[in-house]
Amino acid sequence: MQITPIACLSDNYAYLVVCPGTRKAAIVDPSEEAPVNKVADEARAADPRLSIEAIWNTHHHHDHVGGNEAVKSHVGAKKIYGYQSDKGRIPGQTELLESGDSFELGDLKVRTIHIPGHTLGAVAYVVTAPGGAGKPDETAVFTGDTLFLAGCGRLFEGTPAQMRASLVALAGLPKDTKIYCGHEYTESNLRFASSVEPNNPNIATMRAKVAEERGAGRPSVPWTLEEDLGVNPFQRVDSKEIRATLGIAADADDATALGAIRKAKDNFK
Ligand code: ZN
Ligand code: FE
Repeated sequence: MQITPIACLSDNYAYLVVCPGTRKAAIVDPSEEAPVNKVADEARAADPRLSIEAIWNTHHHHDHVGGNEAVKSHVGAKKIYGYQSDKGRIPGQTELLESGDSFELGDLKVRTIHIPGHTLGAVAYVVTAPGGAGKPDETAVFTGDTLFLAGCGRLFEGTPAQMRASLVALAGLPKDTKIYCGHEYTESNLRFASSVEPNNPNIATMRAKVAEERGAGRPSVPWTLEEDLGVNPFQRVDSKEIRATLGIAADADDATALGAIRKAKDNFK
C-alpha cells in the first residue's frame, strides 16, 4: 500500500492511503482543507485513475476533522468514517463504526479498534495489504492521538485504565506493523522517554534516527510497533527503571503506573 503523510497546521499529519492494485484511496484525518486538497490534486494529476472514496477520522478533535466537508466535496469522497459515539461531533460523518468493524478499500482490508483514552470515541484503523507470491502481509495502523511514536495522547476524556487497555490492544498487532500517528511529537516524546529511562539503549538509537529524518525535513513516521515497544514509556509501564525514576511502587498496577507516567509527561518541559 502507498501512504503519504500530509503536514497540516503546526504539527498534525493527515494521510493519503492508496490501494496500488485498484487505485482506490482514502484520506485519514484531514485537519484542514488546503494542504490535503493540494496533495490529492497532485496524486490525481499523476494518476488519473485514482479515486478517493472516503475519509477516515480517528477522533472528533478539530485538528483532525477540520477539513472534512471541504475535502470531501473537493475530492468527491462518498463516506466519512468515525466511531459511533462521535456522532454529532464529526462533521459530515456517514459511517458509525463499532469496534471490530471491518471494510475494504480496494484490495486493502481495514479493521477498526475502539481505543478510548485521549477521547472516548477514538478509533484505530488497521490496514492490511494481503501478501501472496511469497510476499508477507503488510500492516499499517492509524492511531490518531492515542498512540504517538514514543508517546500517547493526553487523557482528555478517558481514564488511565482505558488508555492502558487501548495501548495493550495496539501492542497486540503484528510486530512489523507500521505506526502512523496524528502529530509530529516524536523528538519531544523521546526526550521525555530518556529522562525516565536513561539506561535504555533503544532510546538513543531512535533519537539518532529521528534527528536525521527531521534534520532532512522528513516526517518521523512511520516506525514499527516493535521499535515503539522498545522505547515508548507508556508501553513500558512495568520497566523497573521508569518506576524507580518516577517513584511508582513496584507493585502498583499497570493503569496506575500509566497514570503516573502521563502526569509526569504533562509536567515535562
Ligand atoms: Zn486529539
Ligand atoms: Fe490532535
